[in-house]
Formats: sequence, structure tokens, C-alpha cells
Amino acid sequence: MKLEVQPSPDTQSGPPSHPFYLSSLRRPLVDRAEGIYFWTKDGRRFIDGSSGPMVANIGHSNRNVLDAMKRQMKKTTFAYRLHFENEPAEELARELAGKLPEGMDRIFFVSGGSEATESCIKLARQWAVATGQPKRWKVITRFPSYHGGTLGSLSITGDDALAETFTPMMRVMPTVPAPTAWRDRDNLSMEQRGIRYADMLEEKIQAEGPESVLAFIMEPIGGAATAALVAPDSYYPRIREICDRYGILLIHDEVMSGAGRTGKFLGGDHWNCRPDIVALSKGLGSGYAPLGALAAPMRLVEPLLASGGFQHGHTYAGNPLACAAGLAVLGEMDRLDLIANAAAMRDVLMAELKALQKRFPFIADVRGKGLLTGAEMVADPETLRPIDPASKATQRLLDHAYARGLIIYGRKVKGGVNGDNFMVAPPMIITREQIGEMISIIGDSLETLAQELDL
Ligand code: PLP
Repeated sequence: MKLEVQPSPDTQSGPPSHPFYLSSLRRPLVDRAEGIYFWTKDGRRFIDGSSGPMVANIGHSNRNVLDAMKRQMKKTTFAYRLHFENEPAEELARELAGKLPEGMDRIFFVSGGSEATESCIKLARQWAVATGQPKRWKVITRFPSYHGGTLGSLSITGDDALAETFTPMMRVMPTVPAPTAWRDRDNLSMEQRGIRYADMLEEKIQAEGPESVLAFIMEPIGGAATAALVAPDSYYPRIREICDRYGILLIHDEVMSGAGRTGKFLGGDHWNCRPDIVALSKGLGSGYAPLGALAAPMRLVEPLLASGGFQHGHTYAGNPLACAAGLAVLGEMDRLDLIANAAAMRDVLMAELKALQKRFPFIADVRGKGLLTGAEMVADPETLRPIDPASKATQRLLDHAYARGLIIYGRKVKGGVNGDNFMVAPPMIITREQIGEMISIIGDSLETLAQELDL
């Protein structure tokens, strides 16, 4: 394997600009976006093959959403929730509750995904205190996982690099392995493995002391940390059973998998899951406004309201402009039947990804639901030996695709068992032809990667 890392054609490093971000990596200035495309100031076109970080579910610059936002802007862009209720928030909450599992009808709006997951664990904790269970505070999470970047949401994120830096400032919560059943080399069936992974939660609860455990948080379909990982079907009901047995709340982080992306409104709907609390963001605002939400049943919310209210709330919570955007996004999702399109296009995209896997045997797995798909790359598909991290295979692949005008997503978690992976998650308006265009670029980029790294 050749290990020398060549700078990718599109990566310009240099001093950070006045606003600074993740690294010294500089990208072209964006000019405008429409549908599944971005255009940059220097006149180049990019296909948004990952909806940004799985955000732009209904596509960019949707006319009806922009018009709804303009109408709201002419009325008011801000009204503080302690002073006024506002119509867009009321209507969006009603619309949303209608799309969620029966009884999940108490909605609390926030401004993003980290705040959504953090407010879920705060709601759970406040419920426990209000119902006389103050010893319950541990939130078990999966490793690897990503639930956000604020210190509270980071405490339930399974990622060694983040934990190493911030541990002194927060409490790292107990973890169980993410259900990477496809990797296991044993004689068990996938369904047996699903049960085994779920039972690890029970073992963890026992080890931690069941009376101290408050909740378990998971993404029903994995996102950034596990590249669209789907557990065997047996996993989901078993997790519910275990949570019920110990009186533990089940929190579903649907920040990435929710809002229709997987071909159902929630990722958990594929298994008729009955989570106690759900976090949403990303696709809910679809990039038109910073928006997130938590949803819970009245039985969890009532005890808090009876004892002083939810001790959480930020200035922009339930912002009328953001909620007007969210309401219009849901309206467009229904009008254009985008959830059905996501389910239909999944078959096309999966078939194409499977064909790429045949062509490039270093792709060990392709997976996902709807338009949340991922592929995992290894040095040896037999033993699953990972590609040498020094070769930065994921970043190279993303850069090669970017240089060809396609944005795909990939992230490597320190300490994670998953290898190099990439995710393809275009806006739900994508057509068969556009999928073909994306796949052709991914194929060329994989070809370049294979040659460079001798894969
Ligand atoms: N939860 C999940 C599953 C996510 O994928 C993310 C972001 O990628 C977050 C939470 C945090 O969301 P945000 O970046 O909007 O704070």
C-alpha cells in the first residue's frame, strides 16, 4: 500500500478566515443553491449528494417554503416564548404530532440537533426527579455514536477523540457496542446477533446498577458515527423490552434519520418502535432555518409542568420564522410525496451501490434505509482489516468526489470499530437520472482511490 498522502486537488489549506471552523481546510465560496445543486462564486456546480450533513431533505430553494418564510417575515420574525405563543409553532407542533407515533404529542422546539438530544436527557432527568426517582441519572449510549457537540450532548456521544479532550469538563456516560452485526464472524444468524447486541444493554444496566440508570439513547438507523448502520430486526423490540423491564426511558435520536429521510417519517417507524422521547432536527428545518424538536407523551411532560416547568429553554426556542419554515417543509414533503420518493429511490441507489461493491471489492458493506445510505471500505474484505488510517482513505475519497463536483459525507470515529466509510444521502427530490450521475462520479472517485492506495 502506498502511504504518501497527496494533497487533494480541491483542498486548499492556509490561515483560517475571520470566521473559523473545523480546520484550516478552505472551500470555495458558495453563491446559490437550487434543488440538489450548489453553485460557487467561481461558477462551479456541485451535486449535494449528502444534503449537506443530511439536512436539505426537501432540496434547496423550494419556492413554497421561501414564500411561506417571506409571509411570516412580514408579520414577525421573533416573539419570545415567555411573552407570547405564536401560530407557526402551534401549527407545526400539531402537524408534527400527527406524523409521530400515537401519543407523542407534546412538542418542545429548539434550534438544532445538539440542543434536541440534550433537551431529551434533561426532560428524562426532570421527569425522574419529579416522579420520585432522583437516583436515576445515567444515560447509556452506544459506541461509536454521535449525539451532538455541546457538553451535555457530547457526554452521550461515543467517540474517544472528543472524550479525551473534554472529559475533565463533563461526565462521560456508559456505552454499549453499536450493533455492527454484519462484521461478526460467528455461527449465529443475524437475528440471534441482534438479540445478543440488545442483551449487552441489559448487562450494562446490571453492571451500572439498574436503580441508577435513567435512559438509553440510540439512533434507530446510524448516522455520522456508523454510516447508516441498521441493526438486525430482532434488536429493536428486544431493546424496548429491556427498557420496560428496568423502567428506563428509550430515547430515539432521529436528528439525522427523521423527517422522512429513510422512507418513513421516523427511522424507528420501520420497526414500529415505541420510543419514550424522540429528538428531531436537520430535515425538520431542511436547511431553511435552524430548527429542532423533542417529542414526548403527556405522561412524561405532566409531572414536570406540575412541578415548576421544564428547566430548559433558549432565546430562540419556538422561533416563529423557524417554525414557519418547518411547517412549510412538512407541507412540501406531503405535497410532493417525498417520503414515498425516498423509499422508491432507495432501491435505485442501493442497486447502484451494490454494483459499485462488486466492482470495488474493498467495499465490505453497503447499507441503509431510504436515502440514508452508507458504505464501508476496508483493506481486506475477508478479514475486515482496516485501511491504514495514515492514508486517510475517507477524506481522499470525499476530496476526489468534490473535485468532480459531488459532495458525499464521511467521518471516522476514534476508537470506533467501523472502518473508512462514506455516506450517500441526497435530497428526497432526487430522480433516477440524478442518482446515475452521482454514482458515476463516485465510481470514478473510487477508481482513483483504488489506484492511489493500491486497494
Ligand atoms: N444527533 C445526531 C444523530 C446527529 O447526526 C447530529 C449532527 O450531526 C446531532 C445530533 C447534532 O446536531 P447539530 O449539529 O445540529 O447540533
